[in-house]
Amino acid sequence: MGRTRSLAYGAYLLLIVVPFGCMASLKTWICDFRDIIRPRICPICGSPLNSTEQKLCSCCLLQLPYVGKEDFYDNPSSRLFWGRIPVERVYSFIRYRHDSESHNLLTSLKYRHRPDLGVWLGELIARELLPRDFFEDVDCIVAVPLHWRRHLHRGYNQSIELARGISKTTGIPLLRRVVERVRNNKSQTRMSTHERMQNTQHLFCARSSLSGRHVLLVDDVLTTGATLLACAQAIMATSEDIRISILTLARAS
Ligand SMILES: [Zn+2]
Repeated sequence: MGRTRSLAYGAYLLLIVVPFGCMASLKTWICDFRDIIRPRICPICGSPLNSTEQKLCSCCLLQLPYVGKEDFYDNPSSRLFWGRIPVERVYSFIRYRHDSESHNLLTSLKYRHRPDLGVWLGELIARELLPRDFFEDVDCIVAVPLHWRRHLHRGYNQSIELARGISKTTGIPLLRRVVERVRNNKSQTRMSTHERMQNTQHLFCARSSLSGRHVLLVDDVLTTGATLLACAQAIMATSEDIRISILTLARAS
């Protein structure tokens, strides 16, 4: 039996065997069938996902280096901004290490065209932080923008996708085009803290003011804080009564 006929037969069996009215079962069957035709792969370990696993396999989801419960006002992420800008709450969800699962996750999110992974991770982070009142009195979400050329090349901005998932779960509006990245700055991977600070000077320009609002800035990775700092400063330059909180998927540690 040819592959096409075999698949058609599989679909036929699926339709006649699944009892009507049992929608949960039907959904599972459809997921199983989809996974046979086009297996979904865990972006961290590369193993096939089963129908109950959404974006990561259960094992990798369990083993991610979570930051866990930290004081939102005093932690290694928030301390990067002390004395530079008055931040409210700061939190990073996982620890980033170059030779670990978090590296594979970030690589997939940024370079393997997985905007869906960003939305899912955003939802996951928001579900974790909602009961801990992280989003209390936050008025709006702003994602750190990419330069338009990089955005066009990649097809999406991973930070916007994370922010989209956070917005979907919390109901807090995600604002686009509030701030623009006006320079396509060099990669900062091998730069020192001082070089990063210089590389991010005048990197962003606010297009509208968020006067009186508590803004949640969202980015994928927090390293020295130079990029987030420059973005926050551009937003805060438009008004003195803007409050900033920061949330990232990962922090280098
Ligand atoms: Zn895995």
